[in-house]
Amino acid sequence: MINYKLYFSFFALLSCVIIVFITLELVSMWWLVLYLVFGFIIIGIASLTMRWNWFLKAFTRLNTNEKIIAITFDDGPNPEYTPQMLALLKKYEAKATFFCIGEHIEKHPGLLKTIANDGHGIGNHSYSHSKTIGFSNTKSWLEEIERTDQLIEKATGFKTNLFRPPFGVTTPHLASALKTTDHSCIGWNNRSFDTFIASPKTISTRVLKQVTPGGIILLHDKQANCIPVLEHLLQVLQSKHYKMVTINDLLHEN
Ligand SMILES: [Zn+2]
Repeated sequence: MINYKLYFSFFALLSCVIIVFITLELVSMWWLVLYLVFGFIIIGIASLTMRWNWFLKAFTRLNTNEKIIAITFDDGPNPEYTPQMLALLKKYEAKATFFCIGEHIEKHPGLLKTIANDGHGIGNHSYSHSKTIGFSNTKSWLEEIERTDQLIEKATGFKTNLFRPPFGVTTPHLASALKTTDHSCIGWNNRSFDTFIASPKTISTRVLKQVTPGGIILLHDKQANCIPVLEHLLQVLQSKHYKMVTINDLLHEN
């Protein structure tokens, strides 16, 4: 894992060197501006790229040749789409993992219980999933995670060990919170972009192109286009003899 603390120290040190050079009139002020912009862009990209493992170690795939794969759904449970997903998974004898939002669990605890009863995995996806959650401090992250953990436990009777950051954003504050709560941070290596792309055919083609043994597919159970996408994926993966397992099944083989 790249040590982000080392990067920050080097970043600060080089900024000081440039400031000294500016004071000595060896370089213009623009060098510092350019350097700072570049440095902050790198930090932003690192926050959004879980597989870089800058701020924390995220599990994004299992390194294996075995034909197993994990399908994951974010942002549910959704009373309209989640039951349809569950029916399809049952039809194809596949297991999946649902990363649920606390506010949604609060409204549909029975649906969460059904997911668990069907043998699927359940992960924590924060309580609010707010657009600004990436800027939270450690205390706020802890509140988001612990509140959702309690709701999952109340609905299903077990505590989840899995957490997926909303928008895939990781920060030092989240890293510190997850150290306290002891969750595994779960990413993906096969992103469907199903919330941006409307056409189910384009989404499934994109996902199927990126299928690898031990991979983790990211879908959402909150919109209509995911129903045909899931059915097509399940048909193709089954025909290719892939076993569709939960994230905890993958983790146990890690
Ligand atoms: Zn999400």
